[in-house]
Amino acid sequence: MKPGVSGKPPYDDQNVFARILRGEIPCRKVYEDEFALAFHDINPQAPQHVLVIPKGKYVSFADFSSTASDAEITGFVRAVGEVARQIGAEETGYRLLANMGPDSHQEVPHLHVHVFAGRPLGPMLV
Ligand code: 5GP
Repeated sequence: MKPGVSGKPPYDDQNVFARILRGEIPCRKVYEDEFALAFHDINPQAPQHVLVIPKGKYVSFADFSSTASDAEITGFVRAVGEVARQIGAEETGYRLLANMGPDSHQEVPHLHVHVFAGRPLGPMLV
């Protein structure tokens, strides 16, 4: 995605996660608080595959870290940890993954962290 005039990537209000946040598309919710929403991925790649998204309109980590408030950033990180606890992955282990931009094949232009768990995940493949 090309950056806008401000250098910040433009935010597409019609992206699927924006629509989930507005309640226009259903999701299987795992966790929600004032800063973040977490729900099961529609096409799971592991027995547990949860997406954690901030509620604000952010596309990438660079965007998020440079423009979100400290409370939003803290809240998002806390939500990721809370999800790991709620899906029972704290003991067994889990993997976090976040795709940013075209080279990473980011499909949905709203910042999200994938949480994978529920089986030995093997070595990380880049
Ligand atoms: P990305 O490639 O952007 O890192 O991952 C986007 C993820 O969003 C994919 O794993 C895809 O399966 C998931 N996804 C796409 N559309 C929907 C949807 O409507 N609902 C849910 N729950 N997940 C979705």
